[in-house]
Amino acid sequence: MANYRFGVLKGDDIGLEIVPVAVQVIKTAVEKYSDITIDWVELPIGYPSYLSTGETLPEETLRTLYSLDGWILGPIGHMAYPKNDPKAINPHPILRRDFDLVSNIRPAKSYPTVPSIHQNVDIVIVRENNEGFQPDRNMHKGKGEFMPTPDMAMSVRVITKRNSEMVSRVAMDLARQRNGKKKVTAVHKNTVFKLGCGLFVDTCRGVSKAYPDITFDTAVVDTFAMQMVMNPQKFDVVVTTNMFGDILSDEAAGIVGGLGMAPGLCVGPDYVMAQATHGSAPDISGKNIANPYAMVMSAQMMLSWVGNKKNDASAIKAAENVQTGIEKVLNENVFVTPDLGGTASTEEMGKAICEAIQSI
Ligand code: ATP
Repeated sequence: MANYRFGVLKGDDIGLEIVPVAVQVIKTAVEKYSDITIDWVELPIGYPSYLSTGETLPEETLRTLYSLDGWILGPIGHMAYPKNDPKAINPHPILRRDFDLVSNIRPAKSYPTVPSIHQNVDIVIVRENNEGFQPDRNMHKGKGEFMPTPDMAMSVRVITKRNSEMVSRVAMDLARQRNGKKKVTAVHKNTVFKLGCGLFVDTCRGVSKAYPDITFDTAVVDTFAMQMVMNPQKFDVVVTTNMFGDILSDEAAGIVGGLGMAPGLCVGPDYVMAQATHGSAPDISGKNIANPYAMVMSAQMMLSWVGNKKNDASAIKAAENVQTGIEKVLNENVFVTPDLGGTASTEEMGKAICEAIQSI
């Protein structure tokens, strides 16, 4: 009987409402369908942490994360943090970089009852997480952005073979694992970024040679963005660089019902962090109306990831039942939040998911 230690970092704004729902859903599935036990370790982060400890990412939180099997990170509303206090930092780029969480897995799946632009969509975008144009994490020291004169700004894009290899392996393994089209599309702009995107695509192609059962193809990012809007059903797993992935995963979320439907998982060789694609949504915070789907499914992906890594059929089964339960609630379309056309509160939707899991 395995025991896991998972961190709970609620984050800001709607994080305080949706993270407890995610924990409750995982607890329900684990208690009913597995023989594993979980220690939940609550850790301070974000603005509530700033108010109680003076820091948005306390050293103690960072240290503890190294001892865990994984953690759930709620959305971070760093734009509202005090601007001139070095202790009020945005924690998520630091977590992604320090824990080498190179791959960000972002699924977009349609459901018949969820208002969406297309049906029968089941795409996973695997985005490189720590380099590209993101200036807050793509340098060893300093930032990848600077202003030589007041009228000129320059941003440096970093692409490495190491991270390109890691992210494409994650994409290939996912395509193999999924019950999908067994296809990986590498999205790039090597027509312009001949060196950066060239290195990325060549590396993906090289990795694909070890996966003869997976169809590998490539797409130029602008054409891909158009095709995903017109015909998203033709894609399965997509692998791409940081900023393209950031933009395309929001586009994919928009196709299947919005940001509340966009879960995410950040993975590296040793650590895993469940983090929904959406932000902290201050506009709906405190109203108990945030859609918990993305956060619940992010936690579900974490459980499944850890289960697969440890070859733990019991954890995998619990994760599968979270998916079955949540699909049941979406398909019945009664206890869903306003963004999905319903009138349920965050808590009510969470309760309905737990009951659906109990009744499988
Ligand atoms: P960030 O840049 O931090 O990712 P953002 O600018 O993309 O944040 P969000 O905080 O994600 O912005 O919010 C964008 C819109 O989506 C808002 O109108 C918000 O209310 C809505 N939204 C985000 N998450 C959810 C959710 N879980 N349920 C319902 N609506 C949501």
